[in-house]
Amino acid sequence: MKNDYILLTPGPLSTSETVRQAMLKDWCTWDDDYNKEIVEVIRTQLVTLATKQPGYTSVLMQGSGTASVEATIGSAISHQGKLLVVDNGAYGARIAQIADYLNIAYRVVSPGEIDRPDLSEVAEILANDNTITHVAIVHCETTTGMLNPIEAFTRLAKQHGKVVILDAMSSFGGIPMDIGELGIDFMISSANKCIQGVPGFGFVIAKQSELEKCKGQARSLSLDLYDQWHCMQTNHGKWRFTSPTHTVRAFHQALTELAQEGGIDARHQRYQTNQKTLVAGMRSLGFKPLLDDELHSPIITSFYSPTHSDYQFKVFYQRLKEQGFVIYPGKVSNADCFRIGNIGEVYPRDIERLIGAVANAMYWQQ
Ligand SMILES: *Cc1c(COP(=O)(O)O)cnc(C)c1O
Repeated sequence: MKNDYILLTPGPLSTSETVRQAMLKDWCTWDDDYNKEIVEVIRTQLVTLATKQPGYTSVLMQGSGTASVEATIGSAISHQGKLLVVDNGAYGARIAQIADYLNIAYRVVSPGEIDRPDLSEVAEILANDNTITHVAIVHCETTTGMLNPIEAFTRLAKQHGKVVILDAMSSFGGIPMDIGELGIDFMISSANKCIQGVPGFGFVIAKQSELEKCKGQARSLSLDLYDQWHCMQTNHGKWRFTSPTHTVRAFHQALTELAQEGGIDARHQRYQTNQKTLVAGMRSLGFKPLLDDELHSPIITSFYSPTHSDYQFKVFYQRLKEQGFVIYPGKVSNADCFRIGNIGEVYPRDIERLIGAVANAMYWQQ
């Protein structure tokens, strides 16, 4: 089965045919063929991809990526705890919203959607509010494509002895980093982003000593991160409740293909070439990116919508889809934009074809 169009919408994103083929068999959720040969292998590989340092472990969690964020926020922070979260886009805002739903005390740093957080403001809050126990930040804010300064942010948080939670949903597997070196305690990502699997579960790679402190703290049974980890850890990869077996099988294949490509460095190179090709091509057609170039990530790019009175996103979208490309609407509150992703089974030649398709779709200029 071939796809009719490429998804430039992370995520879900375009996957390889072989990843999709891995879903064509049925798997028993507790049989050794599945737990030992697939789930345990995935858990080990994820830790290896995330850090060279010892003391880290991983846990897989059913649901979309948000479920893993909610499981982490709801399990890691005790009833006396307090969270500081950076909100410079929809995903940072979502972390604050989760804290709000779960009645967790929190404070927000809001630099706006097109700027990085002011670290001196963060430093001042951490110095003056010693009730804060945890900090959270999004690595690549998929709302705009902004890459946040996680290294400096984490260093600051660690100087003040805080537990660090990183939403690396859209960057893990596509941007090299060592979470142990950085000092990250909990890193969250999901199956359908840079590892190039299909949707259905998320995962958390955590410092085991911090994860063990989550015991008995969860505010939800199905999103109890400690209990889920403990079950997997003591029963060779067994999930507590029905697991998304086909999705997990596809993810295992996706990890194999990541290694075949040359690992995270090689994938990062490809995404970066995609992004540079995209921005250069779009600029040549008169489009302007929302963010300054130095804030860009290789993951997704926001462009201002054309100001021509005949432009309509829906029509533009449809014309691109007819030519084999699906793009994202904008998600920024105070600017009219659309977004184009670079991740997934997408190559520079695809981006070059996309630029041709965009040129064809610009009828409003005639
Ligand atoms: C995709 C994404 C999420 C999770 O979104 P879901 O729709 O729940 O999978 C969270 N944070 C970031 C930065 C993301 O890109």
